[in-house]
Amino acid sequence: MTQPEKDEKILRTFITVYCKKEHGTEELCDDCCDVLDYALNRLKKCPLDPKPMCKNCPVHCYKPEYRAKIKTIMKKAGITLILRGRLDLLWHYFF
Ligand code: SF4
Ligand SMILES: [Zn+2]
Repeated sequence: MTQPEKDEKILRTFITVYCKKEHGTEELCDDCCDVLDYALNRLKKCPLDPKPMCKNCPVHCYKPEYRAKIKTIMKKAGITLILRGRLDLLWHYFF
């Protein structure tokens, strides 16, 4: 798997876990869909090659409002995944 593919998988997993827990939905709610779309779009347009993990990125291309959202999502979903013993998914947080 390439780094962008890994990043996409992590983003989808974390946002899905977060939405289910915080918004009680089976499918992603509109807000979380919006964040996921935004993040996938950033990923696609990432100017760095090779791409670092976003959390180690010197550019930080996200708008502040989205960066704040994704940070919250990664933190809350990360805690849930730790509690479920899914340490395999936590080799890094995104932000
Ligand atoms: S934050 Fe950095 S690594 Fe992540 S997508 Fe934007 S430019 Fe690329
Ligand atoms: Zn949601």
